[in-house]
Amino acid sequence: MLPDVVASSVLLNDFQRQWTEIGSDVHAAVELVGTSGWYILGQEVRDFEAAFASFWPAAHVVGVGSGLDAIEIALRVAGLRLGDRVLTTPLSAFATTLAIVRAGGIPVFCDTDAGGLMDLDEADAVLEAEPAIRFLIPVHLYGYSLDLDRLAALRDRHELTLIEDCAQSVGATWNGRRTGTVGQVAATSFYPTKNAGAMGDGGAVITSDLKFAERARQLRDYGQSAKYRHDELGWNSRLDELHAAILRRAILPRLGTWTEHRRQIASRYLSGIKHPEVRLLTPPAASQPCGHLFPVFVEHAQRESLQSWLKQHGVQSGQHYPLLITQQLALGTVPWVAWGDLPNAAAVAAGEISLPIHPHLRDSEAEQVITAVNSWPSK
Ligand SMILES: *Cc1c(COP(=O)(O)O)cnc(C)c1O
Repeated sequence: MLPDVVASSVLLNDFQRQWTEIGSDVHAAVELVGTSGWYILGQEVRDFEAAFASFWPAAHVVGVGSGLDAIEIALRVAGLRLGDRVLTTPLSAFATTLAIVRAGGIPVFCDTDAGGLMDLDEADAVLEAEPAIRFLIPVHLYGYSLDLDRLAALRDRHELTLIEDCAQSVGATWNGRRTGTVGQVAATSFYPTKNAGAMGDGGAVITSDLKFAERARQLRDYGQSAKYRHDELGWNSRLDELHAAILRRAILPRLGTWTEHRRQIASRYLSGIKHPEVRLLTPPAASQPCGHLFPVFVEHAQRESLQSWLKQHGVQSGQHYPLLITQQLALGTVPWVAWGDLPNAAAVAAGEISLPIHPHLRDSEAEQVITAVNSWPSK
């Protein structure tokens, strides 16, 4: 017997329930790949790339080893050179910035809005003041799309190469338009916790530009243009046949239903959570998030109290992210620039709590989360 607290735990992600749903399709996918005798860059990868491209929608998808690699390869195909500055957000997975640094760029950080999303007015001001900045990597954080019309306007006005980090925003829309369709290139991740999560690492470079796609295909495969012909210095970063088969046969067919379920939980939380000390992130009317994460915000001094209250009531919670990227020790050794003190991003990092939201969360569990938050004695 499991102790009560474990038995009643509402998890941030529930991979065991996921396995119960997808297991037989995964077994079938493994069987097919095993029978084919072909494990790297074969028909399964090509078929998944085509399927994911029509889902996105985009002309070209290139499957790679991770979301980190996808961003780095995207920067390379988009022409980043050593020392180029790349405007981005200080509130994201560290991978967004790590990709910039690894590609030889210099990250420039501007503040977010009060909800943690990149502040596009602020970005506009930075680009106005620093016309030498040619690259922008916005992040559709928590699965909330940034204003895609404004992003497109920024891209045109400042003649930017725009690389959208869509690791968290698979399926999210702005006025019905999907994220990852405004930039010249987009990158996403198939890390297990992501909305289109594989059973291991994976990622994709997504673009409407055939030249970019062709170059990304070479770069993921040691920079080979043909077998044993290395035209440039690339990576070993190939989505493998097994994961391509699992993604296309077990994950993609369910992605629509799963996203719908995530959205239903989000709307349940948005209408059910009522607490004077807990701030919610209500999306603007044009935005339809994909329910990747459900962030709420409290004062920094209160965060531990709410998280331990949730834990006592069987509810797991997370923090996205406890530190700004500019506060990470790893950035101590490389050049970067912050535009101002980043007060909004710092406040989000200090007080954000992520509540459980995933495709296998039951309605009763969502109610358990709401009851736990609403009953929190904040004082
Ligand atoms: C997960 C994530 C990444 C990195 O993806 P990996 O596949 O884990 O390398 C990059 N950016 C954001 C916003 C992410 O959430």
